[in-house]
Parts: sequence; C-alpha cells; structure tokens
Amino acid sequence: MRSILTLPDAGLRQTSRRVDRFDGALGELCDELTATMRAGPGGVGIAAPQIGEPQRVVIVDCSVSRRPCKNHGLLRMVNPEIVETSVQKTLGREGCLSVPEWVGMVSRSREVRVRFHDVAGVVREIACSGFEARVVQHEVDHLDGVLFIDHIVSIQDLVRRMQ
Ligand code: ZN
Repeated sequence: MRSILTLPDAGLRQTSRRVDRFDGALGELCDELTATMRAGPGGVGIAAPQIGEPQRVVIVDCSVSRRPCKNHGLLRMVNPEIVETSVQKTLGREGCLSVPEWVGMVSRSREVRVRFHDVAGVVREIACSGFEARVVQHEVDHLDGVLFIDHIVSIQDLVRRMQ
C-alpha cells in the first residue's frame, strides 16, 4: 500500500507520461494501486499520479461499489484514451481519494468507449456506461492533472463528506 497525495499537492496537477515498457515493474505498480484503492473509502478507482507516479495508468473496479451497476470488474488500464463519448450527459455524485473532505455533483457523458493497453501491452477497447463510465472519465482526468472539483459548476454542488 502506498500513501495518497491530497490537495494541494502539485503532483496531482501534472500531466503523466505514456507507458512504453510492459514489464514486471508495471505489474507491480498496478498491484500497489489496486491495494491502495481498496484500502480507501469507496475505492472504485485510482490513478498512478495519486501515489506520486506520473505515468498513464489507472485502475477501475466498480464491482465493489455499494450501488449495483453494469461493469467489467477489475480493469487495469495503461495509456487509456477516451475515443468516443455519448452526447447524453448525466449528473452524479463524485468523491476522490485525493480530495478527502469533499464530494460533489459532476456532469459526465453517460457512455464512453475507452481504448487502452492491458498490462501485457495488448490494445483493448471497451464500452462503459453509467457509473463505470463516470469512474473511467474521473480517472483518465487525473492523468492530465484534472480533478473532479474542476468540473463543479456551482459551489452549491460541493458538500462536505459525511463520515
Ligand atoms: Zn480521483
């Protein structure tokens, strides 16, 4: 398990670099990310820059969410790119391990297609919808230094997290 950077750490605001080596170190990074995500509250996603590794790697696992949703189980996505988004948007509640005090209402595309490398370097493409699509968009944002609070339109959409 690794410690998680929180606001206002500058590491959260950098653009992460693409991964070009699909080796044991990448597998280890994915394992560390997964363990760190699972230890956090509501841990359904994490991005490598959140643990101080500016590489384009994200983990998503909506199967552990308390709200039942269609999902692909544990996804380890390297160099993920959102290649298609639905015009239709949906407003939903988001939190972030790096913004521990707050949750907010964020508008996201209801469906996305995401292309990525798996840990072996094979290109994959999947379609995500609903909550999983939201988590994918949130995590891919982290790779470009974007946080969910950047999408908040009104301060009324931001509330203190209930413990
Ligand atoms: Zn986050």
